[in-house]
Amino acid sequence: MAEHTKCLIIGSGPAGYTAAIYASRAGLNPIMYQGPQPGGQLTITNDVENFPGYPDGVQGPEMMQDLEKQARRFGTDVRYGLATKVDFSTSPKKVFIDDTHEIHAEAVIIATGASAKWLGLPSEEKFNGRGVSACAVCDGFFFRNQEVAIVGGGDTAAEEATYLANLCSKVHMIVRRDELRASQIMQKRVTSNPKIEVHWNSETQEILGDDAGVTSAKIKNVKTGEEKTIAVTGFFVAIGHKPNTDIFKGFLDMDEAGYLITEKGSSRTNIEGVFASGDAQDNIYRQAVTAAGSGCMAALDAERWLTEQED
Ligand code: NAP
Repeated sequence: MAEHTKCLIIGSGPAGYTAAIYASRAGLNPIMYQGPQPGGQLTITNDVENFPGYPDGVQGPEMMQDLEKQARRFGTDVRYGLATKVDFSTSPKKVFIDDTHEIHAEAVIIATGASAKWLGLPSEEKFNGRGVSACAVCDGFFFRNQEVAIVGGGDTAAEEATYLANLCSKVHMIVRRDELRASQIMQKRVTSNPKIEVHWNSETQEILGDDAGVTSAKIKNVKTGEEKTIAVTGFFVAIGHKPNTDIFKGFLDMDEAGYLITEKGSSRTNIEGVFASGDAQDNIYRQAVTAAGSGCMAALDAERWLTEQED
């Protein structure tokens, strides 16, 4: 039998928990389904040093536990489970959890996040959080005055390579083709930066390291067959993100990459009563603090919309 709720939150990163805190304090008694990775991307980050309010930094998993505690404290019904299907053609909206449990929600807040794409090397997984990272802004600081590598040739890789060049002694940019996908201006910034060395037509074969973390990376020029080992302590992967929005296809407007489209300055989607927050609708900033801010917006938008329905 279907369960009815006023407000359903899908996803449990900073956006989801912030939405939960605001929605529960507004008396909406929200139900939250945490999704496949409770706590979201921050649970695979070590130190978070750029979230305002933590002068000494905080461990990503610890911060997410605190957010969960705060959401529960105000009454959010936090549940483990995965939204596997939706039907937004009806009112209330239908959301299916783990293909079995059916929820009817008046308002839905989407906070399903995005997942970084990875190269798929076993060594990349082995050193994740110990030198391997998918976020230069989050982790670059730990590699000050050290040599690092970054994989990718898009705007993100170009931007992050430039960011890392300000902190690190040298940045090796590993690009799989003989050109960058990044915009002209970003290409210029990369190629004119004396601290960035671009390794064209190159792919990563292996990330090497020891108990302390990454020590080097083995790369191969796919045109010449030349192999070399570059001594780096940080290895950044910037080959794109995938928003976790597949289940909303056919109902919600999204861009080519799958990011949900919201009305400018709000969290409203094209479907009344469905609000989007966090990385699922943001391919530009992708920070915990911006995700939290947009989760707050979604809860306020949902609360106002629900009030309007009662008028
Ligand atoms: P992207 O544009 O999809 O670029 C991904 C890059 O990674 C490409 O160079 C791609 O190579 C490479 N790549 C993909 N899979 C790979 C693999 N398995 N091994 C090695 N390299 C691989 O992703 P993005 O840079 O994250 O940008 C996403 C969107 O956000 C873009 O529209 C971008 O313009 C935008 N963005 C804008 C800004 C800004 O305006 N400030 C900043 C960041 C991002 P190929 O080129 O060979 O496919």
